[in-house]
Amino acid sequence: MDIDNIWNLFLEKMKEQINPMHFDTWFADTKLISLDENCAKVLVPMSVHKKHLKENYNDLVVELFTEITGTNFNFEYVLEEELKNNITIDTNEIGVPSVPFESNLDPKYTFDNFVVGQSNKHKFAKATSLAVAEKPGYMYNPLFIFGKSGLGKTHLMHAIGNYITKNSNMKVLYVTSEKFVEDFINIYRKNKNENNFEEVDSFKKKYRDIDVLMIDDIQYLEIANKTQQEFFNTFNELHCNNKQIIISSDRSPDDLNKLEERLRTRFNWGLTIDIEPPDFDLRMDIINKKIEVNNISSVFPEDVKEYIASNCTSDVRKLEGAIIRVSAYAVMMNGSEITLDLAIEALKDYFVKSIISKNKVEQVQQIVAEHYNITVEDMKSKKRNSNISIPRQVAMYICRIALEESLPKIGMEFGGKDHTTVMHSVDKIKKEISNDENFKNEINKLISKIK
Ligand code: ADP
Ligand code: MG
Repeated sequence: MDIDNIWNLFLEKMKEQINPMHFDTWFADTKLISLDENCAKVLVPMSVHKKHLKENYNDLVVELFTEITGTNFNFEYVLEEELKNNITIDTNEIGVPSVPFESNLDPKYTFDNFVVGQSNKHKFAKATSLAVAEKPGYMYNPLFIFGKSGLGKTHLMHAIGNYITKNSNMKVLYVTSEKFVEDFINIYRKNKNENNFEEVDSFKKKYRDIDVLMIDDIQYLEIANKTQQEFFNTFNELHCNNKQIIISSDRSPDDLNKLEERLRTRFNWGLTIDIEPPDFDLRMDIINKKIEVNNISSVFPEDVKEYIASNCTSDVRKLEGAIIRVSAYAVMMNGSEITLDLAIEALKDYFVKSIISKNKVEQVQQIVAEHYNITVEDMKSKKRNSNISIPRQVAMYICRIALEESLPKIGMEFGGKDHTTVMHSVDKIKKEISNDENFKNEINKLISKIK
């Protein structure tokens, strides 16, 4: 038997042992090139393979290979260029980017703490995301993740990004589409006034001189036409160069109907993952994971978990909120035991909130309009004098902070304003509150009037 045959036998064994996607990523392009005394040399395509195989698969490789050959070999993974030049490339340098670069990734979201339970849809979402993370720009490009709010889209994106930055020296950039729009509008304005091409270059550098671009909540791009064009150019350039693009949205590409057709077409080029609300079992699994991480498993009885899982049916964010609320309530009640009665009491207003949220926006508009002596119509109008625009900003701020409504929804409820207008209003009030204690109290009083 020659070494090619041995290696093929080994690959077949390996294929049975691991997930097909992992096999494809890490083993499909490997080749055994020599077997000396007790050293097996394996040719791998990229340095990331070298590192990943050594660190994650070596024990399994040795075990399976020993089953075939009866000999315990040490494995060495080498690159083509090392063979040619007879040198060794130190893979420890991988993972340390040479220039500091802000990727905006949140390390708390990982694949490890993304729970999938027995749900096939969720398992698929995680496995495909992992496949993209292992070989960015290679298999599914773009990766388009869609689903309703609070179902884990942002979590998955960060998990992919964190995985890539941990295992390679690729440059990953995560932004929300709002940030992309804002960056673009800034350079666009400056450029118009001052012919400032440096700014344009820095924008292009930021978004094109990278290996992985993630844009979260792409639906906000629907209302920004000029930015869509720029995004189209960015997309093409990255895609052409096999750079990975990952997009999330609250709708499928086909339902983003205000987006340019050519963008929608491109979003369908790669793979689309649809994240569905978790079923009861998955909700229970997620609750168990969250209380385990927070070290409160022992004090969280089964009936309380079931109560939360039965009432939070469509949003994992809300599920987390319920857990926190119940634990905080127990602490507030002088550390009482967590019981079903206590949970019901703690969550009394919490579960109904979402049902009456539309009424709440109207309520906020009324409360604020009354306080400032204007009408709700004025508030929803386009009038820009400050006796109207300030109350409008305050009401938008309250809808965002106290009701946690989304920017586009608030925009819609205020007479069809752009979400960037809402964003600026919220920021403005935030800033004023931090400088002015009286103003802050005034706003808190308004918030306390919401029923
Ligand atoms: P989206 O971006 O879809 O609105 P997020 O990714 O922000 O939702 O998720 C909301 C919260 O729920 C986050 O704290 C996230 O960690 C958590 N979450 C969502 N899905 C899962 C899951 N399957 N396992 C663990 N946590 C999850
Ligand atoms: Mg999100």
